[in-house]
Amino acid sequence: MLKAMRKELIINRKRLVSTFIDLININSPSFEEDLLGKHLEKLFRNLDFRVTRQRFDRTFNIIASKKGSLKSVRPLLLSGHMDTIEPTEGIRYAIKGKVIRSIGETVLGADDKSAIAQILEAMTVMKEQDIAHGDIEVVITSAEEKGLIGAKNLDFKKIRSRHALVLDSGGPVGRIVVAAPTQISYELRVVGRPAHAGIEPEKGISAIRVASEIIAAVPDGRIDEVTTANIGIIRGGTATNVVPKEVMVKGEVRSHEPATLRAIRDDIFDKAMSMAKNRGAKVHIKAQEEYRAFRISGSEPFLAFMDSIFLDARIKPEHTATGGGSDANIFNQHGIVTLNLSTGMQKVHSHDEFIHIDDLVNGSIIVAAAVRDFADFK
Ligand SMILES: [Zn+2]
Repeated sequence: MLKAMRKELIINRKRLVSTFIDLININSPSFEEDLLGKHLEKLFRNLDFRVTRQRFDRTFNIIASKKGSLKSVRPLLLSGHMDTIEPTEGIRYAIKGKVIRSIGETVLGADDKSAIAQILEAMTVMKEQDIAHGDIEVVITSAEEKGLIGAKNLDFKKIRSRHALVLDSGGPVGRIVVAAPTQISYELRVVGRPAHAGIEPEKGISAIRVASEIIAAVPDGRIDEVTTANIGIIRGGTATNVVPKEVMVKGEVRSHEPATLRAIRDDIFDKAMSMAKNRGAKVHIKAQEEYRAFRISGSEPFLAFMDSIFLDARIKPEHTATGGGSDANIFNQHGIVTLNLSTGMQKVHSHDEFIHIDDLVNGSIIVAAAVRDFADFK
């Protein structure tokens, strides 16, 4: 279909704001998404989606799909997460001018309820204006804030799309996250030998001193432009009169470069082992990959497609790399070409969190336009 013949998308600003307010009024910390889940399942069913709740151990994802009238068009996946960082209990918000912000002692929950509101408004517009489109899949994940748990447990066999838009990034609408790092987390359990600190300290090996030497020696902070390392937790010791037997040290390394990540990780573990050995102590190491890096190439057609969607909406697309992980890492890891779009949410994870209503509207336009114009994507 010629672009000029396409129907214009008319976003209902008032309805969109009220959808968003309804969402933030439903408390949904990680692992307590049930109430919000029920609300969303009803809304997506009302929009003619087939909705399933995919349960796994502590919580669930919502998978909703809708057949489109355009049969030769590829399916497109839209996604956001329903859990919020705490606190959101008893949220109080204010709409001042064109901004919605939290007042008082909670976050707003625009992370990531702005995404869900934009997807819902876009789908409502498609339906009420009878706009032709291909098949749409929507995944609303849970416990994203606890380490992408919903996405990691998503039953990817149920997903047909090879292209996805995750809406879970901050800053003004137009920002497209095209690269994110791999993150590994690790745990060093340093084991020395306990002894009475006043009577026979020479018989002891202080796990705290050994851990301190290790911590002082390993790479930390910003390693290079795309690599960071941090030790975030240290726990150990029992009493001042005991040479401490055990210390637990927990840290992480992130990098966009797999080789750098491996080198930093190996350096940390080698130093830990050799320093412990030098002092007659032991170190037990556990490590795991939390998520894997992705980098969408500048020549990726789906990226060019989204750039054109933004430009058509007179919004300047901006490609950025991030230091954080998101569900987009997991989707990309499963072979779905996934871009993480900004919803316009600002100062997330803080009590100053806010969103401009114009950004809520723009995000909805982008989602609706992407679904409508995906017919052009070959
Ligand atoms: Zn988020």
